[in-house]
Amino acid sequence: MSYIWEPHTPRGLRCVAEASCCEAFILCFESAEFYVLRRTEDGKEEETVRGTYEQALAAWQNLDSHHQRETHQVAS
Ligand SMILES: [Zn+2]
Repeated sequence: MSYIWEPHTPRGLRCVAEASCCEAFILCFESAEFYVLRRTEDGKEEETVRGTYEQALAAWQNLDSHHQRETHQVAS
């Protein structure tokens, strides 16, 4: 899978729902909008899959399992 990462633009107060392994991806929400947040190597924040909880959660789980395979060689 591939996701389109865009510069993170806060639209409200950020709340953290879940942090993935190594905090590589953070499942966040601002009022009723969920999204996945990541930090780039130069310290910027990017977001993807802004939408419902189900959409953002599915993307976050995908990204986390990919991270675990790539970074920790965890079989899934
Ligand atoms: Zn990790």
